[in-house]
Amino acid sequence: MTDHPYAYVAVGAGPAASAAVEGIRERDATGSILLIGAEDDPPYDRPPLSKQLWSGAKKADDIYLHDRAFYDRHGVELRLGTRVVALDPAARTLRDAGGETYRYQKLLLATGGTPRRLTIPGGDLGGLCYFRTVDDYRRLRSAATAGRSALIIGGGFIGSEIAAALRTAGLAVTMIFPGQWLVSRVFPEALGRALTDRYRDKGVEVLTGDTPLSIERDGERYRTRTQSGSVIHSDLIVVGIGITPNIDLARVGGLETGNGVIVSPFLRTSDPDIYAAGDIARFPEAVLGPRRIEHWDNAVSQGKHAGRNMAGAAEPFTSIPFFFSDLFEFGYEAVGDTDSRHETLADWQEENTTGVVYYLSAGRVRGAMMCNLFGKVDAARELIRREGTIAARELRGAIR
Ligand code: NAP
Repeated sequence: MTDHPYAYVAVGAGPAASAAVEGIRERDATGSILLIGAEDDPPYDRPPLSKQLWSGAKKADDIYLHDRAFYDRHGVELRLGTRVVALDPAARTLRDAGGETYRYQKLLLATGGTPRRLTIPGGDLGGLCYFRTVDDYRRLRSAATAGRSALIIGGGFIGSEIAAALRTAGLAVTMIFPGQWLVSRVFPEALGRALTDRYRDKGVEVLTGDTPLSIERDGERYRTRTQSGSVIHSDLIVVGIGITPNIDLARVGGLETGNGVIVSPFLRTSDPDIYAAGDIARFPEAVLGPRRIEHWDNAVSQGKHAGRNMAGAAEPFTSIPFFFSDLFEFGYEAVGDTDSRHETLADWQEENTTGVVYYLSAGRVRGAMMCNLFGKVDAARELIRREGTIAARELRGAIR
C-alpha cells in the first residue's frame, strides 16, 4: 500500500486519462497524479490505428499523446501493464491484479471498452483479430501483406475503416455484416448504399444482411460459413462488432451503473470523489438528453473536464462531441445525434460526396454529418443548440 494517498488517480491510461492530467494541472500545479493502465503502452490515440497509420499520414510514434518528459514535468506516475480489479470507495483504495493497493483522494474511471466477441463456433480461434489496441494494429499490420485475403466481420466504424485500409494495402477484402449498407446505424440509406457501392467499385466484396455461423481452421487459412450458406476462405479475419463498456470496477465499488457508469453533469459518479469519462460515462447531455458516447473527441473533452472538476472546478460538461472517419476518398466529421433512424435532410454540393446530412427530430437539428467538408463542427453545434424548430429551406446552404 502506498504511504500517502495520491491526490489524483486515473484507472485507464488512454486519451481520457491523459487529457485529465491537463485538466488537473490547469487548476492544481502540484497534487500527485497516478495513471494506471492495463496496456503496456503509455497513453496513445486510437483513431490513427484504423486510419492514418495505414494511409501514411502518421507514423507509429506519432500516436503517443505525450513524451516521457511531459509526465515527468507534470509529476505524473505511470503504472502500465497493470489491471485494477478492486475499488473500495469507503476506504478510497484500489487494488490491482498483483495485490498492490493504491490510495486516492480523487479518482477518475476511464476504463474504456472491450471488443464484443463472436459467440459462434470458432469465435475464439487463435489469430482472430478483435481490433482495438495498438498491439492489435501491430499484429494486423505485420500479417497484412499485399495479395493476402481478409474477411472483415462487422460493418460499423472498425469494419468500414479497416476494410478501406486493407484494400488500399493491396489485400483481397470481403466484408460481412447484418445491415443492408455500411455503418447503417449512422448513414441514412441513400448515402449508405452509395458508399457501399463505392466499396464494391474499389474491389471490396460486401456481403450485406448476413452473419458468420462458424469459423474453422483450413490449414493456415480460415473457412467461415455464413447464415445464408456462403463459405468464405481467408488468410486473416478482423472482427469489429462493437464494444462492451468496462464498468466492472464501478460495479465492484457499488457505484450507480446502467448502460455505463452514471455520472452527473459534472461527470461525477454516485460517489462524490469518483469521476468517470469517455466510453464508459453515461452523462446527462444538456441538449440531446442522456447518452454514452464511444468516440475519441468525447473521451478527450470529458477527460479534461473531469480533471478540472476533480481539481475543484465544479463546471457542468456542455460540449457536444464530434467524431470523424476516413473511408477511401470519403471523409466526414459528424456532431450530435447522428442516428440513422431520425428523419434526415441532405444538402449536397455533389450528391453523396460533398455536403451536409442533417438529422432532425420534431423540427430541430439533432445532428449533422459534414461529408468531405471540414472545420464546420462548431457551425453544426450552433444549429443543434438553436431553440425552436428550423425550416428545411433554412438548412439549405446553412453549412458550406
Ligand atoms: P460498431 O460501430 O458498433 O459496429 C458494429 C458492427 O458490427 C455493425 O455493423 C453491426 O451491425 C455489426 N455486427 C454486430 N453483430 C454482428 C455479427 N454477429 N456478425 C457480423 N456483424 C455484426 O462497432 P465497431 O466498429 O466494432 O467499433 C468499436 C468501437 O470503436 C465503437 O465504439 C466505435 O464508436 C469506436 N470507433 C470509432 C471510430 C470513429 O469514431 N471513427 C473508429 C473506429 C472505432 P448492426 O449495426 O446491424 O448491428
